[in-house]
Amino acid sequence: MMANEFPQTLTIAGTDSGGGAGIMADLKTMQACQVFGAAVVVAVTAQNTLGVQDFMALPQKLIDEQFASLAADLKIRACKTGMLADAAHVHGVVENLKKYDFGLLTVDPVMIAKGGAALLADDAVTTVRDELVPLADVLTPNLPEAERLTGLTITDNRGMEAAAMALQDLGAKNVVIKGGHEATPDQASDFVLLVDGRSFWLSAARMDTVRTHGTGDTLSSCITAALAKGEDFETAIRIAKDFVTAAIANPIAVGNGHGPLNHWA
Ligand code: PLP
Repeated sequence: MMANEFPQTLTIAGTDSGGGAGIMADLKTMQACQVFGAAVVVAVTAQNTLGVQDFMALPQKLIDEQFASLAADLKIRACKTGMLADAAHVHGVVENLKKYDFGLLTVDPVMIAKGGAALLADDAVTTVRDELVPLADVLTPNLPEAERLTGLTITDNRGMEAAAMALQDLGAKNVVIKGGHEATPDQASDFVLLVDGRSFWLSAARMDTVRTHGTGDTLSSCITAALAKGEDFETAIRIAKDFVTAAIANPIAVGNGHGPLNHWA
């Protein structure tokens, strides 16, 4: 393999000092998926498995400089966004994504952590919808995020299908709506709508565990890794679902709260 051709990926997101979510989960996932992972830090959280105690977004200039550093040297084939904090930072990231070519973009529209902490300011939802979603090759909202982005109320499978179509109308190419937050007792089903109009459900047995911290980050990072390795969208999404299911099914004992996934599973 020639220099600079090893599959390189990028996460644009927030850190998790507790190591289970955000950029830390992203890089662990990329490592496990055998791609090289780089990171643009947008925000820093003080966090553990019990919750998010505090966070601060970095000055935009330093974020811009991180993008410029990577563009000047690495050859990123696929990237993802995660926690982007507020409207100004969403806009700043969008400007950089338009300026440089970092390959296929997966957008995880992170809004609220499982513990209830807001990782995106309320008034930034419209910025994500209007500026970031149209750039997404893959968009991976959970149910509450899909509802916020579309204004729809999702109560059943038909509602998930309608929301996925509405998100494509907003400009996202492929949409994965994660059903992990739905109220069904025994199944966690994700709905996938591909850019070519094909759609399918990904179902896994619901697991009775609190160790699900960083699930969304892990899914979107695994999709990013698979895309960087040249997989097509459907294959990348199926690989990522299997990776997350295994990572939840084989928990590791870390922390006293919502523990992290097992990225070696
Ligand atoms: N912290 C950061 C920096 C994140 O990006 C995310 C999710 O994307 C979380 C925390 C929330 O993780 P979870 O809701 O899986 O506990």
